[in-house]
Amino acid sequence: MIDFIVALLRNTGMLAVVAVGYGFVAPRLKGPASALVLGLLCGLGACATMLDPISIQAGIFVDSRTTMVVLAGFFGGPLAGGIAAALPSVLRIHFGGIGAPAGVLSILISLAIGLAGYYIFYRKSEKIRYRHIIVLASATPLTTLSLLLLPPAVALEVLTHSGWTVNLMRLFGVVFLGAILLHEQQRGRAEARVREMAYIDELSGLANRRAFFAHLTKEWKRWERYDEAFTIVLVDIDRFKLINDTFGHPVGDIVIQRLARIMLEESRTSDVVARTGGEEFGLLLPYTTSASGYLVAERIRARVESEVLVAEGNDIRFTVSLGVSADVESYSTMSRCLSGADRALYEAKHLGRNTVVIDTPTLDEADGPPARLAMVGGPLK
Ligand code: GH3
Ligand code: MG
Ligand code: MG
Repeated sequence: MIDFIVALLRNTGMLAVVAVGYGFVAPRLKGPASALVLGLLCGLGACATMLDPISIQAGIFVDSRTTMVVLAGFFGGPLAGGIAAALPSVLRIHFGGIGAPAGVLSILISLAIGLAGYYIFYRKSEKIRYRHIIVLASATPLTTLSLLLLPPAVALEVLTHSGWTVNLMRLFGVVFLGAILLHEQQRGRAEARVREMAYIDELSGLANRRAFFAHLTKEWKRWERYDEAFTIVLVDIDRFKLINDTFGHPVGDIVIQRLARIMLEESRTSDVVARTGGEEFGLLLPYTTSASGYLVAERIRARVESEVLVAEGNDIRFTVSLGVSADVESYSTMSRCLSGADRALYEAKHLGRNTVVIDTPTLDEADGPPARLAMVGGPLK
């Protein structure tokens, strides 16, 4: 009895190892990569438990391969299930003996149960529930059908002596590991959602201020290290307060959303489009000189000016002012580069709004000329 409990705990430990592995992988990988890893985890886990089975009675062993294969198919689909079934099948054939065909059949029945669950429950709603796992677990006694491949006398002997124990253990295994995998999957999804929310502006769906600065820092480092130019464009809606006061705050929100869409449509997918404040937006253009940045900014300005937005029965026209940073080599630090774009935006407002201005940095800034220019002729980096 003690041996039985110890072996049971060892098998349970293997299930826990698979669960921890899945918990680590689930939030980091998606699609086929995730299925591949889940299949390998469960397949290797199944092999490990086959090498360390639980002895029920003399000559009759049980292990957790059913659990692993059922759940790999259920959580990961055909790819994960296929891998998870193939590994223990090969091992079972390698072991040989009269039980080999029955052993492989029980693995294939487990795969069929897992995939049936995947197509019936998961594919439809993309959401696994605890009750689905219970249904799956209660289907595991079907693996007993594999005994048909044994000589009838042996099959009867196995069934009468240990049918209940084996089936209860399979049931328990699927419920136990299934519940942990489901918990890990939900935790992984919640984690990914929180991470995403930390960098996304809710109203516009664009990158938020934090994301903008993270990207800007990356671009600046790339410039310093590899001389890859980039340009910043700052955008501010003109007389936005008046739009809010005239049409109401909700209409102001719609204007913000419209500008977000225009900026996305007028930029490349590699550009970073962010809402950096209330009615202020930032555009980060990698591999772009300020002259090209100016063209993008002008395209946005002209498009905004030409559009009529219909919101709550009002025809609304609005305009934006844009400030473009000068070529990045004109600045000695990232914050000076950003201030340059801001200065240009301020100038655009000053010039009467609905305007694009490129910054004209001066070398005689209060704390000295930009370091990079000062070093021309010497070692740059
Ligand atoms: P300027 O042309 O000089 O930029 O004038 P402005 O009115 O656009 O600038 P100001 O900074 O005076 O006003 C910005 C307004 O933006 C004030 C604030 O109530 C509004 N605002 C900030 N965030 C939001 C928001 O999320 N939704 C809406 N509807 N309004 C916002
Ligand atoms: Mg503003
Ligand atoms: Mg404004």
